[in-house]
Amino acid sequence: MKKFILITVVCFCSQLAFSQYADSVIIKRIVDETMTHSTAYENLRKLCKQVGHRLSGSVNSFKAVTVVAEMMKKAGADNVYLQKCMVPHWVRGEKEKGQIILSGNKKYDLKLCALGNSVGTGAKGVTAEVIEVNTMQQLNQLGINGIKGKIVFFNFPMNPTYIKTFRAYGESGISRTRGPSLAGKYGAVGAMVRSLASNLDDFPHTGTTVYNDSFPKIPAVAISTNDAEYLTKELKKRNVTKAYFRTTSKMLPDTLGYNVVGEIRGSQFPEEIITVGGHLDSWDLGEGANDDGSGVVQAIEVLRTLKALGIKPKRTIRAVAFANEENGLRGAQKYLEEAKSKNEKHIFALESDAGGFTPRGFGLDMTTIQMQKNLQWKNLFYPYGVYEFAVGGGGADIGPLKTIGAALAGLSPDSQRYFDIHHAATDVFENVSERELKLGAANMASLIWLVSEYGL
Ligand SMILES: [Zn+2]
Repeated sequence: MKKFILITVVCFCSQLAFSQYADSVIIKRIVDETMTHSTAYENLRKLCKQVGHRLSGSVNSFKAVTVVAEMMKKAGADNVYLQKCMVPHWVRGEKEKGQIILSGNKKYDLKLCALGNSVGTGAKGVTAEVIEVNTMQQLNQLGINGIKGKIVFFNFPMNPTYIKTFRAYGESGISRTRGPSLAGKYGAVGAMVRSLASNLDDFPHTGTTVYNDSFPKIPAVAISTNDAEYLTKELKKRNVTKAYFRTTSKMLPDTLGYNVVGEIRGSQFPEEIITVGGHLDSWDLGEGANDDGSGVVQAIEVLRTLKALGIKPKRTIRAVAFANEENGLRGAQKYLEEAKSKNEKHIFALESDAGGFTPRGFGLDMTTIQMQKNLQWKNLFYPYGVYEFAVGGGGADIGPLKTIGAALAGLSPDSQRYFDIHHAATDVFENVSERELKLGAANMASLIWLVSEYGL
């Protein structure tokens, strides 16, 4: 009996070793193809330089749909189609202005921008005394007596000791997403939020703020991290009398947006769908190069690489450029709706929405059994710089697919530089490295191929 078990184990192990060797050969071909012939970088150049930013509802957002659909066709997708949805249409308006008024009526010009989805100040702007808060608890403690009639300055620096910078973004992010609305509840007339950035510079970073409909909606801006440092210092010296800012941003009625989908039909199990994607929309200050033009062109590159190698995936692979991730997630909702109405079987979805930087790993959100299967593949990625298969991950656009049973994954690139440029004017094509972008795409293509071959 013992001998039988031993033989079985040896056989199983050698079978596994052989299949891993065979897989490693195909993965090397995939990586070599991407690193040699990828069109991802040129596609990104086109998206950033010919189209530019792609804020939902903007003229560029419609141009981008046509350009990306064309890219998917060129990559060799069997079928390219659009999914139409309604998206919020927020406009920034005129260039924002703002100042700190110091004692002796000395003025300091702020580098600032309106927060996404925020209301404007009106033509005159708002001028009021400034009060700084560093935690939400502090805001609540000050309450109506401490806040009414003032501009609240949310100074929540990102914690530099968190090596995974998304953790710091998550923690400080509440100042931008929930802070202004809560300040409105306590009677504030405006909110100034320290940009969610890891570095100190002069570029304000935008991003969505969320109003609670039961509270008064107040105008809200982000100021650069350098300005936030200056303001807190002057407040401590009691040298600040007031602050002023003017924004003309507003929300227009909902308009059209599109998910762009490019598909390679599975050869054996076409009804099993694997999604690989990023989001097509971006903020309007830069070019949405890292967030998330990179993810979009990497997803397209997955299709191109497999096609170029003549690999016929057993399961259906879909590259998706999602609409409206930044200020509404309507594209993600639409994709789920379509999947449900057609009774589609979604087994796996992978998103790249953390920048086009050097890939380090994948974050996985799936059952333990599926996780174990992924961990068996981990060694295959070592030669290509991907070492971490961590629990927890995915992406905002693919998140809803979990409700219909899809296993989720997110590409985890190195995150040290991401928040220097995230949602700022510096998120431009020049800040994406060609090799780093391609290596991310190569690793994504490898994981997508493994799932298409073996299922989950
Ligand atoms: Zn993004």
